[in-house]
Amino acid sequence: MAPGERVYVALGSNVGDRAAHLAHARARLARLPGTRLLRASTVEETAPLGPVPQGPYLNQMVLLETTLAPRELLEQLHAIEAERGRVRSVRWGPRTLDLDIVRYGDRAVREPELTIPHPELEHRDFWLREIAELDAERSPRG
Ligand code: ATP
Ligand code: CA
Ligand code: CA
Repeated sequence: MAPGERVYVALGSNVGDRAAHLAHARARLARLPGTRLLRASTVEETAPLGPVPQGPYLNQMVLLETTLAPRELLEQLHAIEAERGRVRSVRWGPRTLDLDIVRYGDRAVREPELTIPHPELEHRDFWLREIAELDAERSPRG
């Protein structure tokens, strides 16, 4: 495979069998065209963000290497969300599966439907923790 970009994708779920939704996402991401799943962080449970009352989330960050362009990857993420029956009803409401592109190499994207790095990255401690965990794995001491 041609070398791709290193991309961090955030997984989240707070409806149904949350762990199964994350597992499905990992398996599908690993099989996307031109894509390898390099690493996955610990799964963390977090309180919901925003104004809508809803149950707690399971979150996880994965590191991919991919030759898919940012828009192509976003399209694939939406397809995987749909496979888990995600319904977009209330904004920031509960969902079976949410897949966000957090970072895509060193690229900055500012399009109506896609902002990279994800604008909330600096405000979500759990994302920063998960990225730190993946980066620590990448360069072990000794
Ligand atoms: P947040 O993005 O604050 O975590 P959310 O994940 O609940 O909120 P969604 O309803 O899942 O928001 O997505 C709304 C739209 O955000 C998507 O349809 C997509 O076009 C857009 N979007 C913009 N930037 C990104 C990104 N980096 N990753 C994923 N979606 C993005
Ligand atoms: Ca999100
Ligand atoms: Ca999303």
